[in-house]
Amino acid sequence: YSAKKQRNHYEFFRPSDAADSAERLFLESDLTAALGRGEFELYYQPQIRHGSIIGFEALLRWNHPTRGLIPPASFIPLAEQRGHILGIGNWVLVTACRQFRDMLEQGHTLEHIAVNISVSQFYQLHFVRNIHNALIESGLEPHYLQLEITESAAMKNVPYFIDTLNELHKLGIKIAIDDFGTGYSSFNYLSQFPLDALKIDRSFIWNMDKGDKHVSVVGGIILMASALQLDVVAEGVETQEQAQLLEELGCTVAQGYLYGRPLPLREAYALLGEPGQHAAALTG
Ligand code: C2E
Ligand code: MG
Ligand code: MG
Ligand code: MG
Repeated sequence: YSAKKQRNHYEFFRPSDAADSAERLFLESDLTAALGRGEFELYYQPQIRHGSIIGFEALLRWNHPTRGLIPPASFIPLAEQRGHILGIGNWVLVTACRQFRDMLEQGHTLEHIAVNISVSQFYQLHFVRNIHNALIESGLEPHYLQLEITESAAMKNVPYFIDTLNELHKLGIKIAIDDFGTGYSSFNYLSQFPLDALKIDRSFIWNMDKGDKHVSVVGGIILMASALQLDVVAEGVETQEQAQLLEELGCTVAQGYLYGRPLPLREAYALLGEPGQHAAALTG
């Protein structure tokens, strides 16, 4: 990676660090106009199976005119509070679907694009219809879309959650539980949820460095997922040791800095290489 890319990543502006209410207010008024001014951008982080890119997770960035690149943790909670998240969320959906459809049209063989859905987005009126519209608008086939939903969305209203997932499945859309293991969903419910994948939270992956017990926990999650016939994705894989352990435990899909950071669209294309050719093996 170029020095600039590294710099972009580490010199993120964090209003939460500043903990300054004037600052928050300033950002808030900018947030209202950001969508119309075209300041949002999707970055793409590769997901890897056996050294090949099988898809990407779309991750939102705000190119602020004076503050530079702002990460989602610094403005998504604000957007949720102020009711901007639905507009932003729809933009994310349509843009991710469209940009991924372009990748497929250019001849790349990929399985899915993963898109994060916040709790309030999930519980908005006409959520399923909005997703459906985004697919129609972009011309992407539904099975390519994987929605990432957290356990908190699942537990907020279990019957509604299950109904909505069933509706999404009827359309052919895939569902992954994001940050799995950090929330409060019970194992009792897990078998009742119509899911396609679990993403093991990165804290579990990092804890594996601390010893066998932690490795066993990850192994247990992987076994449970396979018993429930779910795909497993390991998040936040940063070292060869973690990758090796995950492979031994039977986890076949990984995502993390070891393979690639979230990248602007053009750089994601560069990572894919020429269509038809195998992308360079991504082993860090
Ligand atoms: P997430 O969905 O769990 O996304 C993974 C986060 O982990 C991303 O942070 C990614 O850059 C980071 N990450 C990936 N691999 C590694 C690694 O190896 N090491 C480390 N240290 N970090 C890694 P990011 O992009 O800052 O996003 C943070 C969160 O913001 C996301 O967590 C997601 O919950 C939310 N988010 C991002 N984009 C959207 C969006 O379009 N809509 C909504 N509703 N939420 C979003
Ligand atoms: Mg995610
Ligand atoms: Mg996650
Ligand atoms: Mg997260």
